[in-house]
Amino acid sequence: MKKTNIELAGQTALNLNIHSTINNGWLENVEHQVSPHFDLRETTEISLLVIHNISLPAGNFGGPYITDLFMGCLDANADASFEEIYQLRVSAHCLIRRNGSIIQYVPFHQRAWHAGVSNYLGREKCNDFSIGIELEGCDDIPYTSEQYQQLISLTKLLQQAYPAIINNIVGHCDIAPQRKTDPGPAFDWQYYQAELAK
Ligand SMILES: [Zn+2]
Repeated sequence: MKKTNIELAGQTALNLNIHSTINNGWLENVEHQVSPHFDLRETTEISLLVIHNISLPAGNFGGPYITDLFMGCLDANADASFEEIYQLRVSAHCLIRRNGSIIQYVPFHQRAWHAGVSNYLGREKCNDFSIGIELEGCDDIPYTSEQYQQLISLTKLLQQAYPAIINNIVGHCDIAPQRKTDPGPAFDWQYYQAELAK
């Protein structure tokens, strides 16, 4: 299988495929931004995949602000809504942008700070044993086909590397239902699960 590229808005995103590899916790062939927002996992087994959405400012796509937030350098003055969040120390392992391009911030074997107060099947502090993937988006705006394509490829790759996540894939809303709604009703779980099963 050949690697293919997708083009959108002048940017090129390399598609992941079954021959893509994870090297020392990092995806090859994607953009790496090394976030300071991570620490050591207390468990050795990664057994959960958590799907999120994020857009900054809310409802706006394509800007630099998600990366700025995860890197700890969001400009509080860039938007009125940033005053409340610019000091948050948060991250995710990966972001999949609207055009399908992937940015990785934290190596998979380290603990990213994406889930917050959370509970999966009675087990708390899901950051400890999960991988967090952010889709650039909003709860009620359909995700792009490029995002699904990349998310499916990335999930398959992670399932190979960390088999314990195979039957443990959830939305942020499932592990923090009082606080979180992402990835929202716009996320097509049926399509995603069907593609994973192929
Ligand atoms: Zn979330």
